[in-house]
Amino acid sequence: MGKVLIIGSGFSGMSAAAFMAKSGHQVVVLEKNEGPGGRAGVWEKGGFKFDMGPSWYWMPDVFERFFESFGKKVEDYYQLERLDPSYRVYFEKDEFDVPASFEELGNRFEILEPGAKAKLDKFLKEAKIKYEVGMQDLVRKPGLSFTEYIDPRVFKGLGSLHLLKDMRSYVQKSFKHPQIKAILEFPVLFLGERPQKTPALYSLMNYADLVLGTWYPKGGMHEISKAMMKLCQELGVDFKFKKEVVSLEGEGKKLSKAILKNGDILEFDLVISGADYNHTDQELLPKGKQNYSKKYWESRSMAPGSILYFLGVNKRIPKLLHHNLFFDTDFDQHANDIYENPNWTQNPLFYACCPSKTDQAVAPDGMENLFILIPTAPGKADSAAVREEYFNKVMNRLEDRTGTSLRNHIVVRRDFGFHDFKSRYHSFKGNAYGLANTLKQTGFLKPSIKSKSFENLFFTGQLTVPGPGVPPSLISGELVAKEAGKIL
Ligand SMILES: Cc1cc2nc3c(=O)[nH]c(=O)nc-3n(C[C@H](O)[C@H](O)[C@H](O)COP(=O)(O)OP(=O)(O)OC[C@H]3O[C@@H](n4cnc5c(N)ncnc54)[C@H](O)[C@@H]3O)c2cc1C
Repeated sequence: MGKVLIIGSGFSGMSAAAFMAKSGHQVVVLEKNEGPGGRAGVWEKGGFKFDMGPSWYWMPDVFERFFESFGKKVEDYYQLERLDPSYRVYFEKDEFDVPASFEELGNRFEILEPGAKAKLDKFLKEAKIKYEVGMQDLVRKPGLSFTEYIDPRVFKGLGSLHLLKDMRSYVQKSFKHPQIKAILEFPVLFLGERPQKTPALYSLMNYADLVLGTWYPKGGMHEISKAMMKLCQELGVDFKFKKEVVSLEGEGKKLSKAILKNGDILEFDLVISGADYNHTDQELLPKGKQNYSKKYWESRSMAPGSILYFLGVNKRIPKLLHHNLFFDTDFDQHANDIYENPNWTQNPLFYACCPSKTDQAVAPDGMENLFILIPTAPGKADSAAVREEYFNKVMNRLEDRTGTSLRNHIVVRRDFGFHDFKSRYHSFKGNAYGLANTLKQTGFLKPSIKSKSFENLFFTGQLTVPGPGVPPSLISGELVAKEAGKIL
């Protein structure tokens, strides 16, 4: 049994911590910020409680499986509610509410496009196969070699996985109506690339969206962070907050010491870093011991950055649901301004989350908790002027579409952008959710969980396998702990 250091208390770090502790190791988590959750932190002000990052609770089976690994259940820690409708999409002239029932969704698609219900059934049947192969097999590989993917179960499903097709042509093959296409392409945005660049394998996300559903943990997404920390503590993990690691040192093929910003030194037998991979690799390791060169990192295709606004509004906002996608402007133009010619787009798509529609615990009575997210080109630094300009654009559209004045009713406001991502999370290029999930950055083609220089250093989190998102982060921690456990 050994002494294990985990850097970062994001989901991946806490998942790895829990699995290492379960195996009997002595585990300490060092976190630079004030509390657990990493990007799923919380900010409270004036009676409002804002989730700072993730807001969509998808793939509940992954969370169940995680807690079951420790003989626990999700409901031992937090209560889930399924949202119905799952979300609202604002198109240019009207809105579409996506119901929890995919049967009902099929009926609504049929009204837009005759024949679409039967096609949706077929589409979701294929998505189910991909989900099962993808989430039970592919994402659970450590990504250390191509040979891992030579697995009879994976190969059996391979023909139906559409690995070489892209999402856009796959959707367009079956559906013509622009609203249906937009709804089926939307989940790909979580993966950080455009539908035309994302393998059609990822229609597994449509299964997660339209069949498994959108859920909400009462109290907010941060409840998951608290739950994981509690589980870790029950397993004996020690958490130390406001403790930033500034370098890792060792001899030969082994690291043995973490130097902290306050000068403290912590000794360990094995280290798993859940901090942004690039930060650990380029800034914490001794010179010449990096896993990847600067050139390698520069050539990675990153998921978009974000500008976020946390807004406390002192009245109710009619017409908004819990999750609202503003797809009322040109999707392809915005995507082009993110990926092709990185630029400040004129009319950005945006997402508005209003969790107080489901849970009055996150805002004072009669008020709304509003979180706005605008995707931006990766690595593009915003400024106060850009944030203000975008704020006004978003407000104009929100006020117009909800038919209510908002600007004069904002009693709490915090903006969060490029520099905040860098300083709060040590995020590479200010990324919000890691590397884009392109075919060239999938599985064993992602930055490796293992260090080439040190046998007792491992990496976990959204920049390595399996990728960005809360469920993948839980899986990342588990599969890294499995590899790390082999050498202790
Ligand atoms: C705005 C936003 C919205 C999102 N929406 C969703 C969503 O709706 N659904 C979903 O599933 N996913 C969503 N995601 C993605 C998801 O939140 C992330 O993929 C996931 O939380 C990443 O977890 P992680 O453990 O890899 O990294 P992180 O959460 O970033 O954890 C890394 C931790 O390491 C710490 N750290 C860094 N450097 C050091 C150091 N030197 N010393 C000590 N500690 C250090 C950081 O402070 C941080 O706490 C969203 C992300 C963002 C930013």
